[in-house]
Amino acid sequence: MPKSDKTSVPVDARAVLSIDLAALRANWATINKNSGTAECAGVIKADAYGLGLEEIAHALIAEGARTIFVATLTEARRVRAIAPGVIIYVLDGLMPGATDALIGYDLRPCLSSLDEVHEWANVSRARGQRLNAAVHIDTGMNRLGLPPSEVDTLAADSMLWKDFNCTLLMSHLACADDPKNPKNEAQRQLFDALRKKLPPTPASLANSGGTFLGPQFHYDLVRPGIVLYGGRAFEGHINPMRHVVTLQARILQVRDCAEGDTVGYGATYRCDRPTRIATIACGYADGFLRAISRKDRTSGAVGFIGPHPVPIVGRVSMDLITADVTGVPSALAHRGAWVEVLGARTTVDDLTDRAGTIGYELLTRLGRRVHRIYVDGDS
Ligand SMILES: *Cc1c(COP(=O)(O)O)cnc(C)c1O
Repeated sequence: MPKSDKTSVPVDARAVLSIDLAALRANWATINKNSGTAECAGVIKADAYGLGLEEIAHALIAEGARTIFVATLTEARRVRAIAPGVIIYVLDGLMPGATDALIGYDLRPCLSSLDEVHEWANVSRARGQRLNAAVHIDTGMNRLGLPPSEVDTLAADSMLWKDFNCTLLMSHLACADDPKNPKNEAQRQLFDALRKKLPPTPASLANSGGTFLGPQFHYDLVRPGIVLYGGRAFEGHINPMRHVVTLQARILQVRDCAEGDTVGYGATYRCDRPTRIATIACGYADGFLRAISRKDRTSGAVGFIGPHPVPIVGRVSMDLITADVTGVPSALAHRGAWVEVLGARTTVDDLTDRAGTIGYELLTRLGRRVHRIYVDGDS
């Protein structure tokens, strides 16, 4: 059984994701402390990186977070429903037709173009109210945000600036997962140059990686996401964060294969000796990425049954993975037993390194049919 504490696991749960809220809160507290006097917000877009928007929001706010960033209006409304007092920024910015909902739910769009600034200013003027918003300026992502030329236009139009209330001037780093990349400092300098053209406003530049680039990247508010969930800020570096997610799945069947037998689709795995194979109820539809598949035992991902490592062999299929449990006592490797396929020993980073992707993708693709339990504390 997964360590589910007080939370019971229903009989039809075949894969269980436990989310350690104490570790999440500790990670937020670490970033908050490292960021000195800057406020530490929480980025919980995409259902809090797949871990559950409401539960994660609740835990972060309980730990002291006062500002939340989401991507979409829908996500913002869900946070507002459970957190009346928190400041909520919507990274999508101002979608045509969204002003009433944004104002009604007391949300702050991250205005991403001069058009959006004009629209927000017009609505403010019409309502006789300086509505709150962030202004997102682009310093090198070329994705969202006012380009430098639009910042110049905005700077030259002091009436426009006064029509609404800019509570945050923000930009986003393109290469913060690589501390050696000179683009980080280049973006920071451009951010400073653009900021100086506008009236003094609280500023924000750092995502998770940015919080570790030094105090000059912290400004007034930092916006960590992935590190809160235990992912690493820097690719290819030691991850100092506490581990938050554990994925366990049940064994559906154990079978004995002869030397030369093959396992799974494509017959990619060939047993080089008599091998006991466990078929485990977790596949790519559950978020165990198909790209994790390996053709040989030596480089495969490793699950655990209790203390025993079990190499995942053959291809990951939609609903199932297969593991070599030859070395595990049959009292432990049996139908119905639980296998940890992601956790403190085989981490999100380990699996995504194998799959050629990043922790963000694995977390946000954890399947809806995976039963989620929230644990709080070290039990
Ligand atoms: C997603 C996002 C973040 C958080 O990024 P992490 O790398 O997960 O810390 C911060 N700011 C913006 C604008 C984002 O889109």
